[in-house]
Amino acid sequence: MINTDIPFHLPVIEDEEIRGVEETLRTGWLTTGRKTKLFEEEFARYVGTNHAVAVNSCTAALHVALEALKIGPGDEVLVPTMTFTATAEVVLHLGARPVLVDCDRETLNIDVSDAEGKISSQTRAIIPVHFGGQPCDMDGIKDLSRRHNLRIVEDAAHALPARYKGRMIGSLGDITCFSFYVTKTITTGEGGMATTNNPEWADRMRVMSLHGISKDAWKRYSAEGSWYYEVLSAGFKYNLTDIGAALGIAQLRKCDRFQRARQAIAAQYNSSFADIPEVAPLAVHAEVEHAWHLYVIRLDLASLRIDRNEFIERLKEKRIGSSVHFIPLHLHPFYRDQFAYEPSQFPNATFAFERIVSLPIFPSMTAEQIRHVTTSVREIVEQSRR
Ligand SMILES: *Cc1c(COP(=O)(O)O)cnc(C)c1O
Repeated sequence: MINTDIPFHLPVIEDEEIRGVEETLRTGWLTTGRKTKLFEEEFARYVGTNHAVAVNSCTAALHVALEALKIGPGDEVLVPTMTFTATAEVVLHLGARPVLVDCDRETLNIDVSDAEGKISSQTRAIIPVHFGGQPCDMDGIKDLSRRHNLRIVEDAAHALPARYKGRMIGSLGDITCFSFYVTKTITTGEGGMATTNNPEWADRMRVMSLHGISKDAWKRYSAEGSWYYEVLSAGFKYNLTDIGAALGIAQLRKCDRFQRARQAIAAQYNSSFADIPEVAPLAVHAEVEHAWHLYVIRLDLASLRIDRNEFIERLKEKRIGSSVHFIPLHLHPFYRDQFAYEPSQFPNATFAFERIVSLPIFPSMTAEQIRHVTTSVREIVEQSRR
């Protein structure tokens, strides 16, 4: 037994992050400025894209991305049901309609053939979510988008860094959106980034993320900038602060190290669970490099006397934090009632939801903590076999 709790997640905050924030505070420039610009440049280089627009959340990035692609009233956007509400709510904020799509049973990524079946004459875009950090079937999605003239906005909240057929997520789709929320693979406290190779979309996202104003904040407010600006649209207030960017710069430079640590944890979980038939990790396709933001197991309920909720309670008794990603959108009251969805319309997501548990996977996990998770999972299963 261990004597402290294992949290579900813990961000890695070291001297570089603290020094970066302190230095920013001492400059007196706290809002969007040089640090944000530097963070954008380093991020664009890291994922291999021409433009990166920093904002204060992934939700904001998704919102300005769809706006830049002129998604609006009368349009439909394909959204996986196996995601967080942010992915779908932004579609509604633009007056368009999110059309939910089932997931693949083995990866929980969007089921491309189900997506195809839900395309209508109004469908304009698809938002694949790289579930847990495993890239979706991007060839299938690109083929679909070509045949049906759809824009692709990737929700890469989990997928930094991740690769599809050797190419970094962030360099593939029309626009890709990342999250720096505190539980994600790197954090700015709250923050996000939209990447694209299209200069017009980048410019539009920049403008809309700061009140629809035609200049970057740092130029507008800085001494060398002019007082003059023009409002081009009714924009949003979505800019990232330099305090957050200072955190982000320090975190981005450690992103590969964090990923290696998570990969090692995932490998230990995989080998420990290989001989427990009641516990099935998600499948990982050979053509991807996984970010391992989440480590999800599926319980074989038919051979256990406990359900998923009870399993989570047992983990809690052993002082292990866990979570469920996700409660599918079609099961939430809002989406269920607003769009009259039935669980049977999404058989794979509904089936998976009853069985999934996300285990702790964060870079600072100790060997003892990892071992405690694997032995606890084994113990719980052995005590609950039918
Ligand atoms: C966390 C998350 C978001 C939202 O990110 P924020 O930065 O908190 O806005 C969007 N989509 C998915 C799949 C997420 O997990």
